[in-house]
Formats: sequence, C-alpha cells, structure tokens
Amino acid sequence: MSIRPVLETRAATPTMEGAGVHLHRAFGFQDPTELDPFLLFDDFRNEHPAHYQAGFPWHPHRGIETITYVLSGTVDHSDSLGNTGTLGAGDVQWMTAGSGILHQEMPHGNATGQMHGFQLWGNLPSSLKMTDPNYQDVPSAEIPEIIDDDGTHVRVIVGSFWGRTGPVDGIAADPQYLDISIPAGVKKTLPIDTYRRAFAYVFEGEAAFADASAPTGVLLEKEVGGVEVLMRDMAGDRTLVRFGTGDSVTVQAGPEGVRFLLISGAPIQEPVAWHGPIVMNTQEELRQAMKDLRTGQFIKTGHG
Ligand code: FE
Repeated sequence: MSIRPVLETRAATPTMEGAGVHLHRAFGFQDPTELDPFLLFDDFRNEHPAHYQAGFPWHPHRGIETITYVLSGTVDHSDSLGNTGTLGAGDVQWMTAGSGILHQEMPHGNATGQMHGFQLWGNLPSSLKMTDPNYQDVPSAEIPEIIDDDGTHVRVIVGSFWGRTGPVDGIAADPQYLDISIPAGVKKTLPIDTYRRAFAYVFEGEAAFADASAPTGVLLEKEVGGVEVLMRDMAGDRTLVRFGTGDSVTVQAGPEGVRFLLISGAPIQEPVAWHGPIVMNTQEELRQAMKDLRTGQFIKTGHG
C-alpha cells in the first residue's frame, strides 16, 4: 500500500460570484491542470441572506459538468430546456452542460437564514464537450450511507466505495465524490485508485492528512479521549488538501472529529481554453461559443 502524500493544504479564498454571492473558493481559474479533471470548487456557506440571495441569475455553460451538493437551505434552479426544481439539504444535482444550457441558480436560507452547499466543476473531454445537456437530480434519500464500526460515516454520492455505489452516473472522468465524517481521534486509511487525481475539502472540525510512513517521533501528539491525535499538518475548516499519487489516503480526526469531501477523478489531460462558465479545448471553440451566444445558436432547440 502506498499512502498519497499531501502536496499542499490551503485555505479557500473569499470570493464574490453571480449577482453578489459571498462564497469561498478552494480552487478555480488558476492552473486547470492542478486537479484535472476538476476545474473549480466553491463553498457556499453563509448566515446572511443579503450575502447570497441575489444568487446566480441566468448564465450559460458549455463544455463542463457542474455538481451541486446542498447541506442546508435550498437552491431553486431553472434552465433553457424547461427544467425547474429545488435542491434541498442532502440533495445533489449533477448537470452536464455539454453543448450548452442557460440556467439560473437561486439559493435560499433555512429557517435561521443559513445556506450551505458546494459546487464542483468537472471538465469534459473533447469527445463530450458538445454532447447533449443532461441533468441528474438525486434526492438525499437515494444516496447510500455507510457507517463503519468506529463511527465513521460515508455518503457515497458518486462512484463506488466500500462496496456501495452512488446513484450519479458520472459520464466523464470516472469521478468519485464522498462526504465523510470521522469521530474524534479516529484514524482511517481510505482507498483511492492510483490513476485518480484526488483532493479533500474540510468543512467541519479538523484532521491530519499525514503520510503514515512519516516518523512519528517528530509529531506533536495530543490525547483525545484516550487516543493520540497527530497535531501536525492539521487541516481545519474550509481547507483544501491536495494529494499526490498513491493508492490510499490516511486521515486522523482532530479533537472535534472531522467532516470533509473526498473527491477524485481520472485526469483528462487535454488543452483547456476557459472563459467564465465556458470551458473548451481551443480559443477558436471559445470564439464559436461567444458567437453562438450572440446569434442565439448556443442552445439546441428541438430534440437531438
Ligand atoms: Fe451555473
């Protein structure tokens, strides 16, 4: 077994998006090869309706998939194909923009005004960039949940893990998207196929994503409920952890436990031409997308 090293931990950056939504961006619009096949990851967590209710009014997407996972509050969505719906707590929407959609995404808080959710952008390979748009709306109840003997809790949103398979059919990049909670002090080794690029995003508590082969003598240890917790390289709330190659990751939860997303996928390794919500392979394809927007050709009408 080879434990994936931690290449980098970094805090998500406060960012403004849409019509004035305050969010935290873990990555995006920088080096698209870093976490290929993933392009962007945003954390929408906010207690102030004035900081999110303007939402994301009508905008286009082409050439990518957007994956929205809601933890609290709701997101109303509607699009140019005539789809409408509401995502609630625990629900997932996997949208394949393909050749093009126009949509709007409008967040609403829960009873106390809180809104929390995530949006991940997955790239599409050149062969699928102009595929027909598609939605997979998955209610929370359809997402398999696994509880291990030590209290570790895993929601399998996409891909297979510990013998369970999530309900979303990730059409490209063979993604795996897991929501993992680990109790205080518990140490886990979690398998991730070697061909995948992988990252974790911590959003509750903290954990050490350490290389188990590191000499324990240099670690600062702290006892939590009779269990020694490694306090080196602790990744706390709103932290991105980017992994190198290997067939597993190790994680040891901190004194309050940890909850994080563990996301991985097969790199696409193609040129990226990126303009806002449109991601193609070449500048010419970007120009064509802009022209299609101007001339009303962006969206396929009728079937096919
Ligand atoms: Fe969008």
